[in-house]
Amino acid sequence: ENLTNKIAAGEVVERPASVVKELVENSLDAGCRDIIVEIEAGGRRLIRVTDDGSGMSREDALLSLERHATSKIASDEDLFALGTLGFRGEALPSIASVSRFSLATRQRGAIEGTEIYAEGGRIKEVKACGMAEGTVITVRNLFFNTPARLKFMKSAETEAGHVGDLLTRLAISRPEVRFTYVNDGKTVFRALNGTMEERVAALLGRTIAGALYPLDSTVEGVAVRGLVARPDVSRSAAGHLYTFINGRFIRDRVVQHAVLQAYRNFLERGRYPVVVLFIQVPAGEVDVNVHPTKHEVRFRQQGVVHDVIQGVIEEALRPTPW
Ligand code: ADP
Ligand code: MG
Repeated sequence: ENLTNKIAAGEVVERPASVVKELVENSLDAGCRDIIVEIEAGGRRLIRVTDDGSGMSREDALLSLERHATSKIASDEDLFALGTLGFRGEALPSIASVSRFSLATRQRGAIEGTEIYAEGGRIKEVKACGMAEGTVITVRNLFFNTPARLKFMKSAETEAGHVGDLLTRLAISRPEVRFTYVNDGKTVFRALNGTMEERVAALLGRTIAGALYPLDSTVEGVAVRGLVARPDVSRSAAGHLYTFINGRFIRDRVVQHAVLQAYRNFLERGRYPVVVLFIQVPAGEVDVNVHPTKHEVRFRQQGVVHDVIQGVIEEALRPTPW
């Protein structure tokens, strides 16, 4: 059982950023309004995610560390339809199996919380604790018992950068949730809850935010919402491309190609896209049956999706006639 967890950890837990991803997605699924992520030494010494979500009862907290104890569910096809980010119920047991792990949680309305401490996946202590409603998960000494994994970790700076990139993407996708990222005691960003425009301004900077056009069209069942920057502000920056399918961050060749096509005239002049795209397609039109840590999808009708995205962005970039 514990070995199975360690093997699963090899798939789900690649590096500190993958731990943060799983924990933050759980916090979002728990309906939180506020998430604080702290790391130390690139996440190798410490990763802590604090949320004000639903919390768990003692029973559910213990269950959450067992394999396949998901409270969400379902088949991969149901995933998008359900609208939760988690699936498989593997993350917590996997992370716990390769760290010194503490889960403190207090269910909404409960008079006290529960703290569970585990080492290498073995539960060492379960006790009552006083805390605010919500959940605090602390992962120390990641990979302490899997030296091969430890060797693949990059410098603290590189790992912290991956965590920052990941949190930027998650924060862009959920502007209604407050995000705070603290690295080695320094606040890297604090994004207050607000509109998508405000969130993008907080994360990508005011210059870009001041030159964004909103997108909001539905064509052939493909809904495209988001923001594109006027090409004159996106000069020389390598560009920013944030694409989400049904709420999930993806890095997809079809989508990327559509964006670059829409920007093709500007690319020649060294102007790069700054694009935040939320694409919504019916659940049956997209296949996410891929590895949980990859950002790939497959569209049933990729030509249609491509052309709709390109068209909507071209429309937004077209100079307004007067
Ligand atoms: P999954 O997300 O696939 O269900 P996880 O291993 O990530 O599996 O989490 C197991 C279960 O623990 C979740 O289904 C959820 O019920 C509970 N859980 C995990 N994190 C939190 C959290 N931050 N707040 C409330 N419940 C949580
Ligand atoms: Mg999960």
